[in-house]
Amino acid sequence: MTEKQVDYIIVGQGLAGSCLALHLLLRKKRVLIVDEPNPNAASVVAAGLFNPITGRQMGKTWLADDLFPYLHQFYSEAEKFLQQQFFFPMPLYRPFVTVEEQNEWMGRSADDNYTAYLSEVNSRPVHEQIVKNPFGGLMLKQCGYLDTHIFLKAVRHYFQSTGSVVTEPFDEEALDMANGVRYRGWGASKVIFCAGEKARSSRYFSWLPVRPLKGETLSVSPDVKPSIILNRGVYVVPGIWKVGATYNKHDQAPGNTEAGFRELKEKLDELAGFSYAITGREWGFRPTTPDRRPILGPHPEFEQLIIFNGLGTKGVSLAPYFSNVLTNWLESGAPINQSVSVSRYKSVYSKST
Ligand SMILES: Cc1cc2nc3c(=O)[nH]c(=O)nc-3n(C[C@H](O)[C@H](O)[C@H](O)COP(=O)(O)OP(=O)(O)OC[C@H]3O[C@@H](n4cnc5c(N)ncnc54)[C@H](O)[C@@H]3O)c2cc1C
Repeated sequence: MTEKQVDYIIVGQGLAGSCLALHLLLRKKRVLIVDEPNPNAASVVAAGLFNPITGRQMGKTWLADDLFPYLHQFYSEAEKFLQQQFFFPMPLYRPFVTVEEQNEWMGRSADDNYTAYLSEVNSRPVHEQIVKNPFGGLMLKQCGYLDTHIFLKAVRHYFQSTGSVVTEPFDEEALDMANGVRYRGWGASKVIFCAGEKARSSRYFSWLPVRPLKGETLSVSPDVKPSIILNRGVYVVPGIWKVGATYNKHDQAPGNTEAGFRELKEKLDELAGFSYAITGREWGFRPTTPDRRPILGPHPEFEQLIIFNGLGTKGVSLAPYFSNVLTNWLESGAPINQSVSVSRYKSVYSKST
């Protein structure tokens, strides 16, 4: 059988695999994507939110000043290239829960560190027909959502049209690493594993601390349709009308739970000023790491095998920027910062062998 030659084989077409495939395509590289679709993959069930000010403390997220300009440019260009709309920048409103918080943000509003992301600091309630906010709240900019369903479908459709997608589980037993890599009639220089939390069952990468963090969401049909994202305790994303998400590291079982449902509904009732009907429920596992940083780079022993994983709770904002970092390393040897390099876990590998 004649071998079909590509530059890279990508295993998994979630956000990591999709963003990486587009970056490699921009460099005129030939890729083969091997993906087994999974309706509960994190990228499929994600609400797709991107938001630079997060967490209970409402701090600026790690690398926000680099990640956010990059993601805006990347997804906008991807929309033009794929001729589909899936990127929806829009303001995000975060109610204050105490007067102290309100005062703190009145002070922070002049802080240069935050001005790029703040559009209003409201000390009185606004938009009360859609959001409960007795102490006012923050209107943030550079936020929005990615419709991950449309994005993943558009990427898949493009690569299918060039005969570059194989829809099946990647069989690691069929990998021949004698000279570059060979896999079922395909030859490549490297295989890049973008398998999300399924890395845990990989023969080559299961030693890495990729930990599943379960998340559940609700789909709702509201009687008033806000055109901003609401976020406090839970988020409500317009357009796709998703409410989420829970964070449960102890529950490793598939499926939605009663506890998850109750938690989301209670938090939504604290936030929403509108009535709604619940129309659906979803669940999935985020691929997280102990230090909350992605994992990029070559296997310690098999340099043809590369990992791109650990996107955790923020795949939408991390995947574009770090696909670029990985592409620069693959194509021109640009160094991967130690804080995200797979080499930070080298000692874990040594102990496991
Ligand atoms: C409920 C929930 C809500 C979320 N909301 C947000 C959000 O609003 N904003 C945000 O930024 N992030 C969010 N996330 C996190 C985000 O979804 C993840 O960070 C991101 O999707 C991870 O992408 P990935 O490509 O690494 O993994 P995945 O999405 O898991 O994709 C991996 C792909 O590889 C395939 N695969 C795996 N193993 C194999 C194999 N051996 N052979 C072939 N194919 C294989 C899988 O089937 C899948 O298609 C959410 C996650 C969850 C669970």
